Amino acid sequence: MEDCIFCKIIKKEIPSDIVYQDENVIAFKDINPQAPIHIIVIPKIHIKSVLEADKETIGMIFQAINKIANQEKIEKTGFRVITNCGKNAGQTVEHLHFHILAGRELDEKIC
Ligand code: AMP
Ligand code: ZN
Repeated sequence: MEDCIFCKIIKKEIPSDIVYQDENVIAFKDINPQAPIHIIVIPKIHIKSVLEADKETIGMIFQAINKIANQEKIEKTGFRVITNCGKNAGQTVEHLHFHILAGRELDEKIC
């Protein structure tokens, strides 16, 4: 999608610090990290949010998250996965994405 910042990252029209990619998924460091490890995981096709997502895409994303957790060596210490959907959740980029947060003990409250 033309005006989508994450589509621009996929097309390498804007720079990003990519930590993982495969045929269907790409993951890169969040530009404004909320934890020592803060990675954004997205499908390579433009999907607006979880409301539009199909199970194949969700499956591929979580398979990638599993690989990234091992790659980043956070599978034992633990990590949090979050997706925001819509205004009240504070979704600022309308391209389905999952946040991986790790690298310290995360706050108990998630809202
Ligand atoms: P959300 O609030 O769930 O829509 O999250 C969007 C996330 O994308 C935020 O954490 C931003 O810091 C991050 N973000 C926005 N633009 C970029 C970018 N160009 N490169 C990396 N992360 C970005
Ligand atoms: Zn997009």
